[in-house]
Amino acid sequence: METILSIRNLHKKYGRVHAVNNVSLEIEKGNVYGILGPNGSGKSTTLGIVLNVVNKTSGDYAWFGGKMQTHDALKKVGAIIERPNFYPYMTARQNLELVCKIKGAPYSKVAEKLELVGLIERQDSKFRTFSLGMKQRLAIASALLNDPEILILDEPTNGLDPQGIHQIREIIKKIAAQGTTILLASHLLDEVEKVCSHVLVLRKGIILYSGRVDSMLEGQSFYELAAVEMRSLREALRDYPETQSVEEQDGRIILRTKNSVRPDEINRFLVSRNVYVTHLVRRQNTLEEQFLELTK
Ligand code: ADP
Ligand code: MG
Repeated sequence: METILSIRNLHKKYGRVHAVNNVSLEIEKGNVYGILGPNGSGKSTTLGIVLNVVNKTSGDYAWFGGKMQTHDALKKVGAIIERPNFYPYMTARQNLELVCKIKGAPYSKVAEKLELVGLIERQDSKFRTFSLGMKQRLAIASALLNDPEILILDEPTNGLDPQGIHQIREIIKKIAAQGTTILLASHLLDEVEKVCSHVLVLRKGIILYSGRVDSMLEGQSFYELAAVEMRSLREALRDYPETQSVEEQDGRIILRTKNSVRPDEINRFLVSRNVYVTHLVRRQNTLEEQFLELTK
């Protein structure tokens, strides 16, 4: 695995506000990473530090294995951390050609990237005629002109209508499918769930979870049970070797197990204790419930 960025024990303090508190993250080539957290959790500050626009208080980060100066490394990074800004009276194509000139990318990239973000038909329209979603898509095209190793996006769908949000997410998935590594910050859980393979959940600058989005789901399955004799059920489950916790909720028992257990295994144990269930359902916290649980 090739490491694009590694962040180690990063801290940022603004006076008494500990905006980033011991954040570490390894970004491997080809994955899509989300930094997820409510407003004020330190997402933009973290991105600002690794993009060298915010000074860190302590900790370290290294681009591309640390073999390169940050200044040179950032030439291989495409980032959109502010509202897109282009010349209003120039067309989409003219604006991107200007960016090519600045970045030293060939003009042939302009059509390729406009195509990718679905703006090729509007290449000759002036920027000022674009909707917010189109402006955001143009910004993505612009960030991709020099074929960066990684694309960094801060709240890419903020302020967009549902259709605009959908378009941006589809584009992000397409870019990821082409092999570009992506790091995006979002306060929207479903955004991260839909487009990211990995997630760092932050709250008040502190990591609450770091890992694969699907493993975040896995660890959280539980069983809901009921029986005519609720007391016997509860007692039997307390003796069950796999039990981690037994709680009662709305007339049902919520069983969390230490390891992943099949329903028939639970059933067999209960039958051996002469308990016959009327209800046995495996449930999973939705990512939303987990996010609320993690950030509450
Ligand atoms: P997020 O992007 O997750 O919404 P930020 O990184 O913008 O969070 O902010 C994290 C914390 O740092 C917040 O409490 C915010 O008020 C504070 N903060 C951010 N930028 C500054 C700044 N330039 N000066 C003082 N405090 C700041
Ligand atoms: Mg932010």
